[in-house]
Amino acid sequence: MSEQLAIHGGAKVKSIPFGTGRRFGEEELQELREALEQDTLFYHYGAKVKRFLQKFNEMYGVKYSVATSSGTAAIHVALGAAGVTAGDEVITSPITDQGTVVGILYQNAIPVFADVLPDTYNLDPASVEARITKRTKAIVAVHLAGNPCDMDAIMAIARKHNLKVIEDCAQSYLSEYKGKLVGTIGDYGCFSTNDFKHISTGDGGMVTINSGDEEDYTIAHAFADKNYQRFDTKVNRDIHHLAPNYRMTELQGAVGIAQLDKLAWICDKRKEYGATLTAGLAGIPGILPPAITEGSASSYWFYLFRLDTSLLNATVDEFVAALNAEGIPSIRGYIPQPVYLQPMFQKKEAYPGTNYPFSLSDVSYDQGICPNAEAILQTSVRMGISEFYTADDIRDMVAAIRKVAAYYRMPGRS
Ligand SMILES: *Cc1c(COP(=O)(O)O)cnc(C)c1O
Repeated sequence: MSEQLAIHGGAKVKSIPFGTGRRFGEEELQELREALEQDTLFYHYGAKVKRFLQKFNEMYGVKYSVATSSGTAAIHVALGAAGVTAGDEVITSPITDQGTVVGILYQNAIPVFADVLPDTYNLDPASVEARITKRTKAIVAVHLAGNPCDMDAIMAIARKHNLKVIEDCAQSYLSEYKGKLVGTIGDYGCFSTNDFKHISTGDGGMVTINSGDEEDYTIAHAFADKNYQRFDTKVNRDIHHLAPNYRMTELQGAVGIAQLDKLAWICDKRKEYGATLTAGLAGIPGILPPAITEGSASSYWFYLFRLDTSLLNATVDEFVAALNAEGIPSIRGYIPQPVYLQPMFQKKEAYPGTNYPFSLSDVSYDQGICPNAEAILQTSVRMGISEFYTADDIRDMVAAIRKVAAYYRMPGRS
């Protein structure tokens, strides 16, 4: 006999509240005070954004990076630096934040969605290669929820077809792939410091320039600053091509300095908790924990697992409702549907009243183009992970999933 579910009036698994904590403290306040005392909040005059990038570069072992106003901006800057322009195609994942595709369309390039692997939820290299056309210029590899993409395969495809690789690391701080930090493997690595990410500056972002090439850096830097090239006392205002203003302010840089000191601890906790959840969920009929890409470590921005509903006498929504009733907050999927099923893609209308730039390509956004992505979003359950959780919280999450899965287990199936 299985235990009575909380949703049916039984006792809840979660009886003590989840661990909480404050992400900002005296360290951030001290940095902010110093920023204001500079009497300038402009990155080129002050010391905070510079120090923030210096620390970030040391942490990541890169020579150059550029600070931006958001993660979306960081990806746009990388695309600009990569030379992505009108009519180019850029291959990316359909399970991501829309910030991944915004810059592609602002360059008047065309997002092309490749399918993902059913167990890592990250780009399937074979599908990426199948989507390459004469127009393809770049790949934006999204390391979803902290789990690294299969970068060896993606880099090999990119080199073979002469494509640039941009890593979207907005969800994958300090995630490791075969001994390297993600964000240092492709041509550019893009990060977000929006308020929901591992570290926050309110909003903000960074782009690593992994070639270490000074000209590449100069182009990326200028692309984030309306094409102003501000280096030391030299300022060049020549305008050769269009570039937006995505500058980071000294206030964001100041908070970022203090946040970087906490990043290793935050990621260590999340790596530990994610791995503990996966170990705890192993072998439960109907529960499919996420697979972590071979040779890598995920810093778990959230925890997404799948249900095998052929083994469960419940829909995904019923399962999620039961889990919430046990005191474990969870939702179905990560985003409601693959990005390409959004109206903008269905109508091929990024700019109202025109189909440009979609009209330059015959790319399809039809339902069914990425069957794994569609199935994952239908059959997965997302739970939050926090560095402030305790080991007991993780144990309760496992216990609740076990209890709900046992109740709904199909008789005669294993
Ligand atoms: C958060 C996020 C972005 C965008 O970052 P913003 O700072 O919100 O612009 C891009 N890609 C992914 C995968 C993200 O999670």
